[in-house]
Amino acid sequence: MSKIAWLQEELEGLKEAGLYNNIRTLSSPQGAWLTVDGKKVLNFCSNNYLGLANHPKLVEAVKQASEKYGVGPGAVRTIAGTMDLHIELEKRLAEFKGVKAAITFQSGFNANLATIPALVAKEDVIFSDRLNHASIIDGCRLSGAKIKAYEHNSPEALEQSIKENLPNYRRGMVVTDGVFSMDGDIAPLDKIYEVTERYDLLLMVDDAHGEGVLGRGGRGIVDHFDLHGKVDVEMGTMSKAFGVMGGVVAGNEVIVEWLRQRGRAFLFSSAMTVPDVAACIAAIDLLEDSTDLVDRLWDNSKFFKAEMQKMGFDIGQSETPITPVMLGEARLAQEFSRELFSEGVFGTAIGFPTVPQGKARIRVMISAAHDRDDLGKGLDAFSRVGKKLGVI
Ligand SMILES: *Cc1c(COP(=O)(O)O)cnc(C)c1O
Repeated sequence: MSKIAWLQEELEGLKEAGLYNNIRTLSSPQGAWLTVDGKKVLNFCSNNYLGLANHPKLVEAVKQASEKYGVGPGAVRTIAGTMDLHIELEKRLAEFKGVKAAITFQSGFNANLATIPALVAKEDVIFSDRLNHASIIDGCRLSGAKIKAYEHNSPEALEQSIKENLPNYRRGMVVTDGVFSMDGDIAPLDKIYEVTERYDLLLMVDDAHGEGVLGRGGRGIVDHFDLHGKVDVEMGTMSKAFGVMGGVVAGNEVIVEWLRQRGRAFLFSSAMTVPDVAACIAAIDLLEDSTDLVDRLWDNSKFFKAEMQKMGFDIGQSETPITPVMLGEARLAQEFSRELFSEGVFGTAIGFPTVPQGKARIRVMISAAHDRDDLGKGLDAFSRVGKKLGVI
């Protein structure tokens, strides 16, 4: 066992630093309330923004599709063929986003790993926001291109870096998160677009937390800034507001076609499963039918944030339903989370390396599935724990 003794030590170190992930076991669907370790608790953790993870229409669509198509895709699409169901989802996603074409992947993480290395290589340079998601960072590393991180959400810093570095490389690309998931702030995509336009650079945005949240009826960040036809690659996920699983790249049809030929997670990993695809199509149906869920998400989160601020919590600079409750040290955040749990509220502490050292927090995720009574209960629990631990 000596060859893994270092792992035991590392794990002990994580526990001492308050950075060990204790993963809770659920015995209920995702929704406003969960059964966790046998206890009914209010859910403040999931990315199930619209409450679709357990929506009856999605569940029904899964049943019908699996009667017709079974469950598995059989193999990678280039070898075993592709189901018409997958083609239908891609067509529907493209229409929903208002673009020419879309391609799906098994997850958002895979979409980034497939896309970035297909577009840039070691002769090239990527300009990447300093706080971009891990899957973007890994996709960039995998490409072999030179990575130049620029100051978070700063088009000026981006432009400066382009001026200094672009002449030394063959081609360049700019990549940014749309919504930054830990702070809830939005990339100034309109300004970033202007910069990429001046230097004729590819622009890629990761809209994982914007899909189903931002824009008209949840059409995402490109719609939010009215940049239709201007962003080359809109990557997204169906694991958040869509309530299912799967990644997507929407945008220019030539780029999408290239990803079908050269995206490694497309060529070497099988397609989304039948239930995933059917549920995603049902999610688009719901989003296209009405904006009620998206409206309710925003109403709920505005209410919750205003009340938290009144109580004196530091909830950062979020511009979206993501509500970071800033606590500082990881151990305090973990203690806060434990106290909340004993009050019947499930709010996970998030620490390093997901957020910087000393910036630990409870990230509250409000959803359209919550009602005002739920939010009231959650606010009461935050008030009691906040006072007990001297945070407010
Ligand atoms: C969640 C997330 C992903 C990964 O999406 P999955 O579909 O869960 O793999 C990628 N990028 C960002 C910004 C995310 O927040």
